[in-house]
Amino acid sequence: MQRNIESAVHGEVLTPLDFKGKDPRLSCDVLVIGSGAGGATVAATAAENGKKVLLIEEGPAYKSSEYSANFSGMTSEIMRNGGATVILGRSPIAYLEGKVLGGSTVLNGGMCWRTPTEVLEEWEARGLEHLSPQKLDPYFDLVEEVIQARYQNVGSEGENNQVFRRGAEAMGWRLQRNKRNQVHCVGTNDCVSGCPTGAKQSTPLTWVPRLLKAGGQVLCYASAQKIIVKQQRVTGVKVRLRKPFGHQDIIIKANKVVVACGAVQTPLLLQRSKIFKNPHLGQHFTVHPNAKVAALFDHPVDSMKGVHQAWQCTEFQEDGILMAPGGVPLSVIAQCFPLMGAELTEQMRLAPYIATAGVLVDDSRSGTVKAGPFGIDLIKYDISDYDQERFIRGVQRLAQIYFAAGARKVYTPFTEIPTLDHPEQIQRLANVLPKVEHTEYFTAHLMGTCRMSATHSEGVVKPSGESWDVQGLYVADASVMPGTIGVNPQVTIMALARLIGEALVENTH
Ligand SMILES: Cc1cc2nc3c(=O)[nH]c(=O)nc-3n(C[C@H](O)[C@H](O)[C@H](O)COP(=O)(O)OP(=O)(O)OC[C@H]3O[C@@H](n4cnc5c(N)ncnc54)[C@H](O)[C@@H]3O)c2cc1C
Ligand code: SF4
Repeated sequence: MQRNIESAVHGEVLTPLDFKGKDPRLSCDVLVIGSGAGGATVAATAAENGKKVLLIEEGPAYKSSEYSANFSGMTSEIMRNGGATVILGRSPIAYLEGKVLGGSTVLNGGMCWRTPTEVLEEWEARGLEHLSPQKLDPYFDLVEEVIQARYQNVGSEGENNQVFRRGAEAMGWRLQRNKRNQVHCVGTNDCVSGCPTGAKQSTPLTWVPRLLKAGGQVLCYASAQKIIVKQQRVTGVKVRLRKPFGHQDIIIKANKVVVACGAVQTPLLLQRSKIFKNPHLGQHFTVHPNAKVAALFDHPVDSMKGVHQAWQCTEFQEDGILMAPGGVPLSVIAQCFPLMGAELTEQMRLAPYIATAGVLVDDSRSGTVKAGPFGIDLIKYDISDYDQERFIRGVQRLAQIYFAAGARKVYTPFTEIPTLDHPEQIQRLANVLPKVEHTEYFTAHLMGTCRMSATHSEGVVKPSGESWDVQGLYVADASVMPGTIGVNPQVTIMALARLIGEALVENTH
């Protein structure tokens, strides 16, 4: 922890050590909790509009040069619970949450997608007129400019993307080139453990500098424990400062508090604070479940050279199925093989010849996030049989792509049929119909647990992002999304957070 505190101080970010044993009496107009896609955006927006803003973050602050390709080493440094987080349900769903300045934007693959028009039209029809495609367009323009969403430089994409592209082209299926928030990304494929070159424009390189430039402050190793409310109005937050030897609890006073801890931690903090009851809090939890598929080629693919998802196959997007290549660390590649011990060791010699990709299915149902006693929380989501049918179809299509690109073998996420040795075996998946309970899933997109709504009876926050139940309390992260969007969410979250930041500044009560 010491090393990171020192580097954080260099970077204008405060840490508990800056208070040198004195009681830090902090107060501000706007206290923002969480520095990820939502929190950093809303904090910069409020500061740029003249507010005295303090952004607190539970995790450390890292310089780009301190991120390392040592995946297992970094997980314990920058991810919640060392990356060992799982959603319970019919089948467990592994997920990751960033716990570092920048939150999950530090871990993410950098794909930049605007919210699909039909999704915004549906939100508009639910009474959220300010989320219409026309009204949100300028927000998307701004977000893309700030985070530098652009196509990869030629040659940086890597063979993992190229085999996928060649296969999809051979099938004649629609491909979309992805914009990523990067500047001269050289394709080291280390995005998930933090970009060591500074190419990925996560929030410590975008919205946080804007916040600091506008006079805002950032305090790391500061974990919000409880929101304090008097007479249904927020007055501050009890914050735990983590120190090298122990901790210190302080109260930070604020006129407005924005909770932006992510779609899991935000409802947990609000539930633990016991400040209001709202039947939608922690409900409508959507996760864009994913299943991974790998393929063995005769030539080296070197999936760790290149980038995540330079391309996506959108041919089946209308059915809620997206397919995209993604390089994963060696330890994760090892999980693709249905082997153990010496056989697995032998198989891992083939790792350079393995391509990896994922099938994302847009949720048809939702789960729940519930704070439990003794810090044991229940994060629950059951994949539906309807969605499983789409997973089976998606894996079949991905297998077709890989065989069309010349794969020798395809590894599926289904324990009943773990490998396909020939394109003719693809049909077996439809005959056997692997069950949810026998499928391995993961997710990177958590949404919807404090949804925005047009009326109090339908959600947790107003169209302005302010809580329906507590004055001056706002939410501005993936939790407020009124529904699932079927594509990577960071641009949507930032656009909504910008909008919420503006509403918060205008709101004078
Ligand atoms: C591996 C991975 C790959 C992804 N790839 C993409 C992609 O390519 N494109 C895309 O659009 N999206 C991607 N995403 C998703 C995207 O990064 C997230 O949806 C987005 O960052 C969520 O923003 P957020 O503000 O809700 O939460 P986060 O970005 O997770 O930020 C929450 C922050 O709050 C802090 N916090 C939590 N509790 C407290 C507390 N009590 N006190 C103080 N601080 C607290 C956390 O430490 C964290 O820093 C990916 C995510 C992951 C994990
Ligand atoms: S692939 Fe690009 S954005 Fe990702 S870690 Fe490497 S240089 Fe950074």
